This record gives sequence, C-alpha cells and structure tokens, in this order.
Amino acid sequence: MSSLVGPDEDDPRRPDGSAKPPVPDHVQDAIRTLIEWAGDDPHREGLVDTPARVARAWKEYCLGYTEDPATHLSRVFEEVGGYDEIVVLKDIPFQSHCEHHMAPIIGKAAIAYLPTDHVVGISKLARVLHGFARRLQIQERLTAEVAQCIWDNLHPRGVAVVIEASHACMTARGVRTPGVGMVTSRVMGTFRSDSKSREEVLRLMGY
Ligand SMILES: [Zn+2]
Repeated sequence: MSSLVGPDEDDPRRPDGSAKPPVPDHVQDAIRTLIEWAGDDPHREGLVDTPARVARAWKEYCLGYTEDPATHLSRVFEEVGGYDEIVVLKDIPFQSHCEHHMAPIIGKAAIAYLPTDHVVGISKLARVLHGFARRLQIQERLTAEVAQCIWDNLHPRGVAVVIEASHACMTARGVRTPGVGMVTSRVMGTFRSDSKSREEVLRLMGY
C-alpha cells in the first residue's frame, strides 16, 4: 500500500523528522461517529486514518486559538519620512470556518489605516487577519475583530476593513447558491466621522 500513498499520509514522521502530534482516541471516535452518521463505514480501508487526519487538520484550521493577534502589531516603525496618508493592503486571501456549520469561509480582505506617527510592517496586517480567521467565526465578527485590534494597538486616526467571502454552508448545502459573496465592512475613527475620508479610503480599497 505504501506505493499508493505519499510519505506524509503513511509515515507518522513529518518530512522534517518531527512526529505528528498524537490525536486522543476520544477525538478520533468523534470523527468516526460523524462518518457513520454521514452514511459511510469508518472502518473501510480508505477511511481508517481519516479521523486522525481530520483532527490534525482542525487543529490547523483553528491555529488562531493559540495566538493573540495583537502581538503582530507590537513592533512599529517611527521613521515614516513624514508619511501621513492612508496605508492600504488589498486582496488578502484568507480562509476561516463558520461557527454555525463548521464549513469553510473563503474570501479576501482589504485593510486600511491612517497612521498617526508610526506604521507597522505591512505583512503584519495580514497576520492579524489570519489570527482571527483561524477560528470558528462569523464574517461580521471577523471584520469587527480585525478592525478593533488595529484600532486598539496601532492607535491610528482611522481604520477600515472590508471582507468579501463565500460561505460553503450556503454554496454547498442549504440554498446552494454558488458564486454568492457576502461583503462586510467596519470603519472607525476619521473614516467613520468624515464622509470625504471614508469615500477616499473605500475608493483606495477598490469599493
Ligand atoms: Zn454556516
């Protein structure tokens, strides 16, 4: 059988030699119960190792629970050369899971802020997004949490977050409407109080 499955599938060691994290029996049993509930036989050959794989995959989907996304914003740069305009990061792809069905949410985010006297490394904004996305979520809360985290930790004059995503619980089940996207936004500070700067930031974000 080893010729049919890749080394990662078959070998309890990872490519770097470290052991895969063990999965407790009760967790594997829960996934076997779900397979049975779905109508299949969890003991047939193709499904024998599935419970452990699914369990490890869920740890990975939910890695956000092991981190505080605010830590990504702790290192700031104060030499900004007098830059006091909007900073925008667009089209940041992300994956999350909806807390109602544990189904994938797949989408992209745009994050903007108006700095005071310091900026943050641009990749850190994406890390904040992923820190909150890798949890069981609803899109509205994800949007709000990303904006609030930037607001509280970077102390900018304004923050705007727009998230566009499709929800597998809508596209693959229920009303089955592939292609439908949901858009959520949160604007804070000057982007909220001043309609001109809100228009400007949304235009820069592509909305
Ligand atoms: Zn859902």
